[in-house]
Amino acid sequence: MTCSGLGLFIGAGKCNANCKHCAGLIHRSSSPKKDGIIDYDLIKNTIIKCHQQGARSLSISCSGEPTLSPISISITLELIKNLADNGYKYDKIHLYSNGIRIGNDIEFVKEYLPAWKILGLDSIYLTVHSSNEKENAKIYGVKEYPSLLEIVKRIHSFNLKVRANLVLGIGVIETFEQFKSTVDDLIRYNVDGISSWQLRDVNDEMDIINSISKKEFDEICDWVVQTRNVTLYQEKEHSEMYSKNQKLTLFPDGKLSNKWCK
Ligand code: SF4
Repeated sequence: MTCSGLGLFIGAGKCNANCKHCAGLIHRSSSPKKDGIIDYDLIKNTIIKCHQQGARSLSISCSGEPTLSPISISITLELIKNLADNGYKYDKIHLYSNGIRIGNDIEFVKEYLPAWKILGLDSIYLTVHSSNEKENAKIYGVKEYPSLLEIVKRIHSFNLKVRANLVLGIGVIETFEQFKSTVDDLIRYNVDGISSWQLRDVNDEMDIINSISKKEFDEICDWVVQTRNVTLYQEKEHSEMYSKNQKLTLFPDGKLSNKWCK
């Protein structure tokens, strides 16, 4: 078996958002109940095993919002650093986030982002539904969403990179116009990369019911080819990547699987 990337679910399943299409929900019952609790030996052995199979990219995700479990993230990054010092080095380490705590809690940002950078974190994968904060708040199901520009600045101020993840689907980004204006704004905000894919369901299949119209999707595809600013993952690439076991994820119930949609 070959493996190019490993995803870890870390932290308690708490979230500060209420998205309608939450892929983390089904994993919450098996997530730790408190920040600071991780299955240390299982995570350690999985990191080693996947490294031996060729994995060099590592992502940290959660059944909720990872920044609400900063102790668990710190313990995990310390373990990753320790293993790197002993020959199991991952070249890329990134953390998924909805950005809410980064934008709202400057004390958290000052305490953890520089410490995580020292431990090897290189980028934050920020899920963005709209560059309009009111629209973003609506889709995240929160009263207010902080300034996206400020979030990007805060992450950059500690030499961490920002990749924006845009999810296409009904109730998220539905049209070519929404997609283009969000990408244009993100480029102005100096994000380091933009990736996009269609909404996926809890079985890691494309969410047919909530997918955008073919016309809008084709327009997005044509524009992406011309601009080259965005990596757009289409269904074929998703299934190929996972079926070839290139990306494995360690779920909170202890299963290591090539299925994941976040
Ligand atoms: S931010 Fe992520 S974990 Fe939180 S509700 Fe939305 S999809 Fe679920």
